[in-house]
Amino acid sequence: MANSFYGGIKINKTGLSHGVSPKIFTPAAVAINAYQQAGGDTAPCIKEGEYVKKGQVIAVSERLAYLHAPVSGTVVRLLLKDNSHYIVIKSDKTETCAPAVPFAKPISEITPEEITEKIRTMGVVGTFSNFPTHIKIIASRGKAFCLVINCVQSDPYGSFVREIVKEHPKELVYGARILAKAIGVKQVIFALENNERKSFAALKSVIGEKDKLISVARLAPKYPLGEERNLLCAVIKKEVPAGRATHDIGYTVFSAETVLRIYNACAEGVPVTDKYLTVSGEKCASPANLIVPIGTSLRTVAEQCGGVPEDALCVYGGAVNGKTADLENGCVTKSTSQLIITQPLNKKTQACIMCGKCITHCPMRIAPHTFIDGTHRPAWAKLCDMCGCCEYICPSEIKLLDIIDKRKKEESK
Ligand code: SF4
Ligand code: SF4
Repeated sequence: MANSFYGGIKINKTGLSHGVSPKIFTPAAVAINAYQQAGGDTAPCIKEGEYVKKGQVIAVSERLAYLHAPVSGTVVRLLLKDNSHYIVIKSDKTETCAPAVPFAKPISEITPEEITEKIRTMGVVGTFSNFPTHIKIIASRGKAFCLVINCVQSDPYGSFVREIVKEHPKELVYGARILAKAIGVKQVIFALENNERKSFAALKSVIGEKDKLISVARLAPKYPLGEERNLLCAVIKKEVPAGRATHDIGYTVFSAETVLRIYNACAEGVPVTDKYLTVSGEKCASPANLIVPIGTSLRTVAEQCGGVPEDALCVYGGAVNGKTADLENGCVTKSTSQLIITQPLNKKTQACIMCGKCITHCPMRIAPHTFIDGTHRPAWAKLCDMCGCCEYICPSEIKLLDIIDKRKKEESK
């Protein structure tokens, strides 16, 4: 198995060209969902009418990551909707920041437990999964001996990850050393696609040839290489057994953006208040990588890039597995990665012709067509990670993701 994984699909990258630096902008207001991470809601610790500084803690939890004000301004509304708290802040556009809270001692004197708690209170969660980073660190400790940093952007329309790697190699390498200490691993591998020459050169210039802890692996591009099980399979040439976590076989995977956030939290004392994302697509007038305050409305984000024309569709998430964006109610969260403004697909679904293509391309080695009539094995609904390869490749244009999603919901009851 040559630096790749089973199944998947090859897609021509149609997103932004390399070298598009992320732009920052400040919206007039943000609406932050305090149920921002896998695991539960956080409790607001501010009041309506209160003035908050950017980076000030606005919601807390005893076991989950904190939430911080993404902009400076006035809390104009606190509400409870569908069992989640929402905090609405009207920006004063001054970007007045709360003081940074770095460690009082050098990082070399900080314990793994102190690092982990800092990551939690600085609000770091997985930048694609929304899973609290401190919980993943604790779960990996004592089990993983190797940390893999995911620098892959396998989605054809995305490009912000490669910009992070090119622009912040020093911060990523320092962040990886901090994370390695927090988990207790003896090896760190940065994993990137083999056509990312500038990112590779940037990382190598920081790591050096004689580094005993850190190395770089270059992998064959294929969708969905960025999914952690596929990435790990490509790096170590061994599959993670079905139903097991990567740390069960000694590895743990964190995304490049999460590692950058760990650097910001531990080395600078700066919490998570914004999100890197890409806005692109055939119908996007001004594609861009943006750094967007959490809670910014999706419509405002789309408008930064020329808006959504009447005959276009705005997709939230990946080109292969994204969903129609809710521009009226949707807001940026800590795991929003892209908006694609594109031509609506008028799929004409036909009956399954039993061609088997969905089986050949499924990275999880399951038989997606069996979800159609419900003859799939009970474990398969849980194993499917909704990558969308089966639907993308299906000649009958069957909406397999909707069907699988429905089965997942039925079977989790
Ligand atoms: S069944 Fe799930 S994991 Fe397999 S290709 Fe389809 S969406 Fe991906
Ligand atoms: S790819 Fe589509 S048509 Fe072919 S077996 Fe799978 S579901 Fe049926």
